[in-house]
This record gives sequence, C-alpha cells and structure tokens, in this order.
Amino acid sequence: MIKRRKTRPIRIGNVTVGGDAPVAVQSMTKTDTRDIKATLRQIDQLRDAGCEIVRLAVVDFEAAGALAEIRKSTLLPLIADIHFDYRLALEAIKNGVDGLRLNPGNIGGRDKVIRVVQAAREKQVPIRIGVNAGSLPADLDKSLSTADRMVAALMREIELVESLDFDLIKASLKAFDVPTTIEAYQKASRLIDYPLHLGITEAGIPPEGVIRSTAGLAPLLYMGIGDTIRVSLTAPPVEEVETAYEILKSLNLRSRGPVLVSCPTCGRTEIDVRNITLEIKRHLASCPKNLKVAIMGCVVNGPGEARDADIGIAGGKGKAVLFSRGEKIKTIDEADIITELLGEIDRFPG
Ligand code: SF4
Repeated sequence: MIKRRKTRPIRIGNVTVGGDAPVAVQSMTKTDTRDIKATLRQIDQLRDAGCEIVRLAVVDFEAAGALAEIRKSTLLPLIADIHFDYRLALEAIKNGVDGLRLNPGNIGGRDKVIRVVQAAREKQVPIRIGVNAGSLPADLDKSLSTADRMVAALMREIELVESLDFDLIKASLKAFDVPTTIEAYQKASRLIDYPLHLGITEAGIPPEGVIRSTAGLAPLLYMGIGDTIRVSLTAPPVEEVETAYEILKSLNLRSRGPVLVSCPTCGRTEIDVRNITLEIKRHLASCPKNLKVAIMGCVVNGPGEARDADIGIAGGKGKAVLFSRGEKIKTIDEADIITELLGEIDRFPG
C-alpha cells in the first residue's frame, strides 16, 4: 500500500485535488482554443477516455473569449494556461474557468498579480504555480543545482501569492531530466503541503515519452508524492490519459477498466498469444469493468497466472484452458479462444 503524502485539498470544478482524493488525471487540448468546435470535440474525447481535468492554452483575447462558449458546453473542469498577460487570466476567470496555470512572476509585476489573485479569490479559482526547468529566473544562484533552483523559484512564487493572502495553490516543477524532476518534487514536498501536479515536460513521442514519463512519475507516486498527473506526449491527448491510467493502475493507485496480463511468449508458447491479446485489448478498450484478464501461452507457467486473474487462459497444443475466478471452467479449441474469453468477460459482474 502506498501511503500518500497529506496535502491541502483544493477543488478544480467538481474534482478534488489533494487531501484524500485519488490522484486526478489531467491532459491538455492540442487544438487552437480559438477553434471552439475542434476544442470541444477533443475535450469530449478526453472525457470519454477518463480525463478529469483539461487544460487549454490561452494565447490571446480571442482564445480567452472562446472559453466562455467552451465552458457552457462541457462539464469537465477547465484550466486556463496563461503566460505573460495578466489580462488573459482575468478574462479566463470571468469566462468561468475552474483553475489557472500561470507563474505570478511573469505577468508583469506585483500590481498585476494582486488583480489576478483578487479575481481568483472572488471566484475561488485555484492557481497552479508551474515552474519549468527551461525558464528559471536568471537571478537565481547559479551555483545551485537545477533542482534547487527550481524549488527556489517555486518558493519565491508561492511567497508572492501567499503574501496576498491566497492559498488556493497547486504546484509543479517540471523538467525533461528525470532525476532532476524527482529531486525537485521530493524537496518541494518537504517544504510545502500544497497539492502537487506531476509531469515530465516535453517527454516526447511514444514509446520514449511514455517510458520517460513513467520513469519520472512512478518513483514519486510510489513515495506518496503527487496529487494530479499529466503525461506530456507528442501524441493525441487521449494517449496521455491512457498512459496516465496505466501508470496509476500499475501502482494500484487508481482502477479504470480491465488490466490485461499477457506472457511475453517463448519457445514453449503453444497459442498465438500476441494476436489474441491484441484482439482482446481492442474489445476491452471501452469495457468499464475493473477486472484482470490473463492470456498465457503454455501449461508450464500459464495456469498459475490465469488462475490468479479474474479471467484467464493457459494455452496447450491447439487448445487452451479457460479459468474464471480461479476455477478451471473448460478446455476450448484455439480457434474459439477469443469468442470464449469475450463471453466470459461479458458474464463477469461489472
Ligand atoms: S507462460 Fe509459458 S509460453 Fe508464456 S512465456 Fe511463460 S513459459 Fe513461455
């Protein structure tokens, strides 16, 4: 059991982040926010994939204006991603966003920060202070490690906002370098109890981006650090959500849909494990049941794993043994494996 670090809960729309809430999964639209139709289509795809919070880039006033229309058309909590122009933050808050992502230090001075914080307080809109290793303030002590400079930058931003009596804060410290990211989050988690948003920035295309993100997020999550995650991939955003859930499912932090176990195959394999697995995976894509399905290639190691799953098969010569809830149900022909497995999955209570 992972013992999660205690953080102060905040609400992003109808989603609690921090406290005892499960680690929330978020993503970011990749459409031009000004293209309302395309953005809403992507938000709906994200919602269907299980995304719980969605962030949108607000590049100008037209994009900030589009948020009003987008807000009316989706229930998913929306976060406006703002850089440099505090007026965009005010407009986004006015148009009903549930959260802001901005760095108070880069919106043009204390008077502008005061205006944004006042508006955020009035509407109870949390602000994520997102430090990025690639854009650290130039005046930080260069002799410090990158992780230490990231933490120093974060603390400076937090102090600025706290001095304005605002504490609806979420923090992130993103870097491309995995050890730097882990070190920065570990250090920050000892200093603050605001909820943390985890991510490895610009992780890349799958599978490299998936591996890099997993390498960075999993150790932190295992240490109990992290209240919401975003996997950044150069890929459609739904893949970010799917990857996030796989990471969380692997650590038993969230469950969503089936877990598919399949053996790597070897010289003992007696059935077409790869094709059967791909076919079952395709069918399970929209299955909401939290069940474990095992597809194993032989009778040597197969039955143990198949028995351990909710539903499983262990291959034999042209045949397979079907297991359900630990019990051997029957022996089936190889040609019927997919149909039989799907039937068993359908009958499984969900
Ligand atoms: S389950 Fe059997 S076929 Fe699959 S990898 Fe293990 S030994 Fe090989």
